[in-house]
Amino acid sequence: MKTRPISYFDNNATTRIDPVVLEEMLPWLSGEYGNASSAYSAGRRAHAAVELARERVSALLNVRESEVLFTSCGTESINSAILSACSLDPDKTHIITSAVEHSATMKLCDHLAQRGYEITRLGVDAEGRLDLQKLEDAITEETAVVSLLWANNETGVLFPVREISEICTAKGVLLHLDAVQAVGKVPVDLATLEVSFLSLSGHKLYAPKGVGGLYVNRRVRFQPLLRGSQERGRRGGTENVASIVAFGKAAELESLHGFAEAQKAASLRDAFEDGILGAVPGCSVNGDRTARLPNTSNISFDGIESEGALLLLDHHGICCSAGSACTTGSVTPSHVLRAMGLGNERARASLRFSFGRFNQREEVEHALQVLPKIVGKLRENSPLAGSPVLSAS
Ligand code: PLP
Repeated sequence: MKTRPISYFDNNATTRIDPVVLEEMLPWLSGEYGNASSAYSAGRRAHAAVELARERVSALLNVRESEVLFTSCGTESINSAILSACSLDPDKTHIITSAVEHSATMKLCDHLAQRGYEITRLGVDAEGRLDLQKLEDAITEETAVVSLLWANNETGVLFPVREISEICTAKGVLLHLDAVQAVGKVPVDLATLEVSFLSLSGHKLYAPKGVGGLYVNRRVRFQPLLRGSQERGRRGGTENVASIVAFGKAAELESLHGFAEAQKAASLRDAFEDGILGAVPGCSVNGDRTARLPNTSNISFDGIESEGALLLLDHHGICCSAGSACTTGSVTPSHVLRAMGLGNERARASLRFSFGRFNQREEVEHALQVLPKIVGKLRENSPLAGSPVLSAS
């Protein structure tokens, strides 16, 4: 099937594999098929490739190589970190997280609640910000772990990780950060930030889906989720050499070009956001616009249903997302926007645009041409047509 070119504004859902990453990966899917645990030379080459990838990922995070594990995805990393923290002391049966986490954390905490854990889900304000005093007050002797996002996948809002880390360190409680959206978009330097665990994922970084990373602080005890002999006994399962190699290359590219890319993404995002806010009445940006990822824009358009907008945008080759990709297809409004106090209607009227390495200014121009017309059309057909804001467009 021939695919037509698309304007892809859904880089928080997943990214296109970088051709440089693909090139590095391909030999490990064909001629170089050795098992990284085998003793002969093909196995030793695979092992060396995995270790080079570890070196590159640890360089990106500024940590020791021995502190980085490869997993199958961000979700596995998150599950491994939280479950490891819970398994260390049976008397610690309290977990602190937030009401705006990714479903990987939310669903694991739901499951642990059924198994008797007490879960504190810290709320956020209208801008998606955390109240640090509430975090500090929530920590008790029973707290096994604090698990929080670094950057929100839907709004891009950044949690104040330095202050969070200081609170957890002062209280002596383990801290896991879900940095799946942060790595590659904002500097993540763990030499200057004390955390116990940090999760990341390859497919948000121009590597393929199905490979992730978990940083485990060398001073923290770790219990594996998957038992086996690989990864020095900390993550069993034959290494996915090709994807790990790709992840390593992607990390190297981020180390080299991450800063310049973030600036480019911010300039495209800002041009898009300013253009839309100027052209479409009755729309507003969701989330704190100062402490935010440089690439993300979440906008509510009064009087529309985002599902309808997605279909019409798709017709024009524009890809974006309603809420997070994991909830697309369901009509339930985003739990993140609801936690920020948005009503169901405004939450359902929100679209997320997330920019990335391969976006061009022409794509932004295209979206600025198309989107206001689509919003106008949806509003004409809306039961609310005739209200002052909607009839202005
Ligand atoms: N955490 C956040 C913030 C995410 O955005 C995602 C993916 O969308 C995940 C975790 C899960 O990562 P993965 O898709 O690699 O399992």
